[in-house]
Amino acid sequence: MNIHIIPCLNDNYSYVVENKKTKNACVIDPSESVPVINFLKKNKLNLKYILNTHHHADHIGGNLELKKEFNSQILGFEKDKNRIPGIDIFLSDKQIWNFEGSDVLVEHVPGHTSGHIFYYFKNEESVFTGDTLFSFGCGRLFEGSYLEMVDSLKKIKLLPTKTKIFCGHEYTINNLKFCMEIDKNNSELKEKYNQINNNIKNKLPSVPSSLGDEMRLNIFLKFDNLEFKKRLGFEDLNEVDFFKKIRDLKDNF
Ligand code: ZN
Ligand code: FE
Repeated sequence: MNIHIIPCLNDNYSYVVENKKTKNACVIDPSESVPVINFLKKNKLNLKYILNTHHHADHIGGNLELKKEFNSQILGFEKDKNRIPGIDIFLSDKQIWNFEGSDVLVEHVPGHTSGHIFYYFKNEESVFTGDTLFSFGCGRLFEGSYLEMVDSLKKIKLLPTKTKIFCGHEYTINNLKFCMEIDKNNSELKEKYNQINNNIKNKLPSVPSSLGDEMRLNIFLKFDNLEFKKRLGFEDLNEVDFFKKIRDLKDNF
Protein backbone atom coordinates (compact mmCIF):
# COMPACT_ATOMS: atom_id res chain seq x y z
CA MET A 1 0.00 0.00 0.00
CA ASN A 2 1.07 3.56 -0.71
CA ILE A 3 0.19 6.53 1.46
CA HIS A 4 -0.18 9.86 -0.36
CA ILE A 5 -0.29 13.26 1.31
CA ILE A 6 -2.91 15.62 -0.14
CA PRO A 7 -2.58 19.22 1.11
CA CYS A 8 -6.02 20.83 1.53
CA LEU A 9 -7.38 24.24 2.59
CA ASN A 10 -4.75 26.38 4.36
CA ASP A 11 -2.86 23.89 6.46
CA ASN A 12 -4.84 20.63 6.45
CA TYR A 13 -3.65 17.25 5.26
CA SER A 14 -5.90 14.58 3.79
CA TYR A 15 -4.34 11.20 3.08
CA VAL A 16 -5.04 8.67 0.35
CA VAL A 17 -4.10 5.04 1.06
CA GLU A 18 -3.77 3.09 -2.15
CA ASN A 19 -3.59 -0.64 -2.81
CA LYS A 20 -1.06 -0.62 -5.63
CA LYS A 21 -2.33 -3.92 -7.08
CA THR A 22 -6.09 -3.35 -7.11
CA LYS A 23 -5.98 0.48 -7.47
CA ASN A 24 -8.60 0.65 -4.73
CA ALA A 25 -8.14 3.49 -2.27
CA CYS A 26 -9.47 5.07 0.88
CA VAL A 27 -9.10 8.66 2.01
CA ILE A 28 -8.64 9.89 5.57
CA ASP A 29 -10.23 13.23 6.51
CA PRO A 30 -11.01 14.84 3.14
CA SER A 31 -11.11 18.52 4.09
CA GLU A 32 -12.41 19.39 0.64
CA SER A 33 -13.22 17.29 -2.41
CA VAL A 34 -11.40 18.95 -5.33
CA PRO A 35 -7.74 18.17 -4.48
CA VAL A 36 -8.71 14.61 -3.57
CA ILE A 37 -10.77 14.04 -6.74
CA ASN A 38 -7.95 15.46 -8.87
CA PHE A 39 -5.41 13.16 -7.27
CA LEU A 40 -7.61 10.06 -7.57
CA LYS A 41 -8.45 10.73 -11.22
CA LYS A 42 -4.88 11.48 -12.18
CA ASN A 43 -3.78 8.20 -10.63
CA LYS A 44 -6.84 6.25 -11.86
CA LEU A 45 -7.79 5.16 -8.35
CA ASN A 46 -11.16 3.91 -7.21
CA LEU A 47 -12.19 5.49 -3.90
CA LYS A 48 -13.91 2.73 -1.90
CA TYR A 49 -13.97 4.35 1.53
CA ILE A 50 -13.90 7.75 3.25
CA LEU A 51 -12.56 7.61 6.82
CA ASN A 52 -13.17 10.47 9.26
CA THR A 53 -11.22 10.96 12.51
CA HIS A 54 -13.77 13.46 13.84
CA HIS A 55 -16.67 15.65 12.80
CA HIS A 56 -15.00 19.07 12.38
CA ALA A 57 -15.70 20.80 9.05
CA ASP A 58 -12.03 20.77 7.97
CA HIS A 59 -12.01 16.94 8.23
CA ILE A 60 -15.37 16.05 6.64
CA GLY A 61 -15.81 18.86 4.10
CA GLY A 62 -15.26 16.61 1.06
CA ASN A 63 -17.38 13.67 2.28
CA LEU A 64 -20.54 14.10 0.27
CA GLU A 65 -19.02 15.17 -3.04
CA LEU A 66 -16.51 12.32 -2.94
CA LYS A 67 -19.22 9.82 -2.03
CA LYS A 68 -21.30 11.01 -4.97
CA GLU A 69 -18.38 10.95 -7.41
CA PHE A 70 -17.03 7.50 -6.48
CA ASN A 71 -20.00 5.81 -4.79
CA SER A 72 -17.78 5.37 -1.71
CA GLN A 73 -18.81 4.40 1.81
CA ILE A 74 -18.18 6.77 4.72
CA LEU A 75 -16.84 5.55 8.07
CA GLY A 76 -16.81 7.28 11.43
CA PHE A 77 -17.23 6.75 15.16
CA GLU A 78 -20.63 5.29 16.07
CA LYS A 79 -21.39 8.01 18.62
CA ASP A 80 -20.74 10.72 16.02
CA LYS A 81 -23.23 9.26 13.54
CA ASN A 82 -25.40 12.37 13.75
CA ARG A 83 -22.61 14.78 12.94
CA ILE A 84 -20.63 12.97 10.24
CA PRO A 85 -22.27 13.77 6.90
CA GLY A 86 -23.19 10.73 4.78
CA ILE A 87 -21.94 8.14 7.28
CA ASP A 88 -22.56 4.51 6.24
CA ILE A 89 -20.38 2.41 8.57
CA PHE A 90 -20.35 2.97 12.35
CA LEU A 91 -17.05 2.14 14.04
CA SER A 92 -16.61 1.28 17.71
CA ASP A 93 -13.66 1.62 20.07
CA LYS A 94 -10.94 -1.04 19.57
CA GLN A 95 -12.63 -2.39 16.46
CA ILE A 96 -10.43 -3.91 13.77
CA TRP A 97 -11.67 -2.80 10.38
CA ASN A 98 -10.22 -4.30 7.22
CA PHE A 99 -9.10 -2.47 4.11
CA GLU A 100 -8.01 -4.59 1.15
CA GLY A 101 -6.80 -7.40 3.42
CA SER A 102 -4.96 -5.01 5.75
CA ASP A 103 -6.01 -4.67 9.42
CA VAL A 104 -6.88 -1.22 10.67
CA LEU A 105 -7.24 -0.72 14.42
CA VAL A 106 -9.71 1.98 15.43
CA GLU A 107 -9.41 3.53 18.90
CA HIS A 108 -11.53 6.15 20.62
CA VAL A 109 -9.34 9.13 21.64
CA PRO A 110 -11.61 11.83 23.11
CA GLY A 111 -10.29 15.27 24.11
CA HIS A 112 -10.19 17.44 20.99
CA THR A 113 -13.77 16.27 20.38
CA SER A 114 -15.82 13.72 22.31
CA GLY A 115 -15.99 11.34 19.34
CA HIS A 116 -12.44 11.53 18.00
CA ILE A 117 -10.86 8.25 16.81
CA PHE A 118 -7.53 7.22 15.31
CA TYR A 119 -6.88 4.70 12.53
CA TYR A 120 -3.79 2.50 12.89
CA PHE A 121 -2.84 0.60 9.72
CA LYS A 122 -0.90 -2.35 11.10
CA ASN A 123 0.97 -3.55 8.01
CA GLU A 124 1.86 0.00 7.05
CA GLU A 125 2.93 0.81 10.66
CA SER A 126 1.11 4.11 10.26
CA VAL A 127 -1.43 5.92 12.39
CA PHE A 128 -3.76 8.71 11.31
CA THR A 129 -4.23 10.87 14.39
CA GLY A 130 -6.41 13.73 13.08
CA ASP A 131 -6.34 16.59 15.58
CA THR A 132 -5.43 14.48 18.65
CA LEU A 133 -1.65 14.22 18.22
CA PHE A 134 0.18 16.65 15.92
CA SER A 135 3.87 16.55 15.03
CA PHE A 136 5.42 17.89 18.25
CA GLY A 137 2.08 19.18 19.50
CA CYS A 138 -1.45 18.08 20.27
CA GLY A 139 -4.96 19.30 19.53
CA ARG A 140 -6.85 21.87 21.56
CA LEU A 141 -9.44 20.59 24.01
CA PHE A 142 -12.84 21.58 22.62
CA GLU A 143 -15.05 18.85 24.06
CA GLY A 144 -12.95 16.87 26.49
CA SER A 145 -11.16 17.10 29.81
CA TYR A 146 -7.41 17.21 30.36
CA LEU A 147 -7.66 13.71 31.87
CA GLU A 148 -9.40 12.37 28.76
CA MET A 149 -6.74 13.87 26.49
CA VAL A 150 -3.91 12.39 28.60
CA ASP A 151 -5.60 8.97 28.43
CA SER A 152 -6.02 9.35 24.67
CA LEU A 153 -2.35 10.29 24.18
CA LYS A 154 -1.40 7.26 26.30
CA LYS A 155 -3.27 5.03 23.84
CA ILE A 156 -1.18 6.43 20.99
CA LYS A 157 2.01 5.98 23.02
CA LEU A 158 1.26 2.25 23.29
CA LEU A 159 1.70 1.78 19.52
CA PRO A 160 5.13 0.55 18.32
CA THR A 161 7.76 3.34 18.51
CA LYS A 162 8.54 3.07 14.79
CA THR A 163 4.91 3.95 13.95
CA LYS A 164 4.64 6.78 11.42
CA ILE A 165 2.37 9.61 12.58
CA PHE A 166 0.16 11.23 9.95
CA CYS A 167 -1.65 14.16 11.57
CA GLY A 168 -4.40 16.51 10.41
CA HIS A 169 -2.52 19.81 10.11
CA GLU A 170 0.83 21.33 9.16
CA TYR A 171 1.45 23.04 12.49
CA THR A 172 4.88 21.51 13.03
CA ILE A 173 7.13 24.58 12.91
CA ASN A 174 5.04 26.50 15.41
CA ASN A 175 4.81 23.41 17.63
CA LEU A 176 8.59 22.99 17.58
CA LYS A 177 9.07 26.68 18.46
CA PHE A 178 6.86 26.15 21.49
CA CYS A 179 8.73 22.95 22.50
CA MET A 180 12.03 24.85 22.27
CA GLU A 181 10.61 27.68 24.39
CA ILE A 182 9.72 25.24 27.20
CA ASP A 183 12.45 22.62 26.76
CA LYS A 184 15.37 25.04 26.47
CA ASN A 185 18.84 23.89 25.37
CA ASN A 186 17.59 20.60 23.93
CA SER A 187 19.97 20.17 20.99
CA GLU A 188 17.92 17.40 19.37
CA LEU A 189 14.91 19.73 19.24
CA LYS A 190 17.01 22.40 17.53
CA GLU A 191 18.26 19.88 15.00
CA LYS A 192 14.71 18.73 14.29
CA TYR A 193 13.61 22.36 13.90
CA ASN A 194 16.37 23.10 11.37
CA GLN A 195 15.61 19.94 9.40
CA ILE A 196 11.86 20.61 9.24
CA ASN A 197 12.34 24.30 8.57
CA ASN A 198 14.34 23.31 5.48
CA ASN A 199 11.54 21.00 4.33
CA ILE A 200 8.93 23.70 4.76
CA LYS A 201 11.06 26.26 2.90
CA ASN A 202 11.24 23.76 0.04
CA LYS A 203 7.45 23.33 0.24
CA LEU A 204 7.77 19.78 1.54
CA PRO A 205 5.42 18.48 4.23
CA SER A 206 6.80 17.79 7.72
CA VAL A 207 4.68 14.64 7.99
CA PRO A 208 5.02 11.83 8.78
CA SER A 209 6.74 12.07 12.10
CA SER A 210 7.57 8.92 14.07
CA LEU A 211 6.21 7.91 17.46
CA GLY A 212 9.79 7.46 18.72
CA ASP A 213 10.68 11.08 17.84
CA GLU A 214 7.42 12.27 19.37
CA MET A 215 8.05 10.42 22.64
CA ARG A 216 11.53 11.97 22.92
CA LEU A 217 10.73 15.53 21.82
CA ASN A 218 6.99 16.31 22.05
CA ILE A 219 6.45 17.90 25.46
CA PHE A 220 2.75 16.98 25.37
CA LEU A 221 3.76 13.32 25.61
CA LYS A 222 6.21 13.74 28.48
CA PHE A 223 3.70 14.02 31.35
CA ASP A 224 5.05 10.74 32.79
CA ASN A 225 8.75 11.61 32.46
CA LEU A 226 9.85 12.50 36.01
CA GLU A 227 13.37 13.55 35.06
CA PHE A 228 11.99 15.90 32.41
CA LYS A 229 9.42 17.43 34.77
CA LYS A 230 12.18 17.99 37.34
CA ARG A 231 14.31 19.79 34.76
CA LEU A 232 11.41 22.21 34.12
CA GLY A 233 10.73 22.64 37.83
CA PHE A 234 7.34 20.93 37.55
CA GLU A 235 8.19 17.82 39.59
CA ASP A 236 5.23 18.36 41.97
CA LEU A 237 2.69 18.25 39.17
CA ASN A 238 0.94 14.94 38.50
CA GLU A 239 0.46 13.74 34.92
CA VAL A 240 -2.79 15.56 34.27
CA ASP A 241 -1.77 18.81 35.99
CA PHE A 242 1.51 18.83 34.08
CA PHE A 243 -0.33 18.29 30.81
CA LYS A 244 -2.81 21.06 31.71
CA LYS A 245 0.05 23.43 32.50
CA ILE A 246 1.69 22.80 29.11
CA ARG A 247 -1.61 22.88 27.18
CA ASP A 248 -2.58 26.20 28.80
CA LEU A 249 0.85 27.70 28.06
CA LYS A 250 0.50 26.62 24.41
CA ASP A 251 -3.00 28.11 24.15
CA ASN A 252 -1.43 31.47 25.03
CA PHE A 253 1.77 31.03 22.99
ZN1 ZN B 1 -10.55 19.40 14.61
FE1 FE C 1 -8.65 20.23 12.17
